[in-house]
Amino acid sequence: MRAALRRRLLVATQTDALAVLHDGIWSTRCLHCRSALQVRDDGEPLGLATLEHVVPQAWFGRRAAAALTAQVGDDADDPRNLALACARCNHDKGKGHDARGPGDVRAREVVEALLATRLSRWRDPMDAPAR
Ligand SMILES: [Zn+2]
Repeated sequence: MRAALRRRLLVATQTDALAVLHDGIWSTRCLHCRSALQVRDDGEPLGLATLEHVVPQAWFGRRAAAALTAQVGDDADDPRNLALACARCNHDKGKGHDARGPGDVRAREVVEALLATRLSRWRDPMDAPAR
C-alpha cells in the first residue's frame, strides 16, 4: 500500500476518539455501520478497513458543497475529512450520494450528517495514545 495512503489511514485513526491502541493494533469502528475495524500502527489496514473521504473528493471546489468543504478547511485530505469505513459501506457510498453530487439535497444531508458524526468523534492528535 502507498505510503501516503497509510499516513492518511493512520491520522484518521489517531484522531478518532473511538480508536484504541493495543499491541501495535488500532481498533475502532466504521463511521457508517460501527462494525469493528483494525489498522496496524504503521497505517496498514487490516481486514475490511478502508480510508473514507467524508466529504467526497469530487465535491471540493463545487459551489453547492461550499458549506461542507469549509468545515474541513477546503482540503479533501484534512484529517477532519478522513475516517475509517468498512469496505462494504465505502463501496455503497460511492455508488450512492457521492455519485449524485452536491447539487442533490438528499446527498448533501447524508454527507452533512456523516461529517457531524466524524467531528463528534474528533480527538486532538496530541491526545492520541503513544505507539
Ligand atoms: Zn461499515
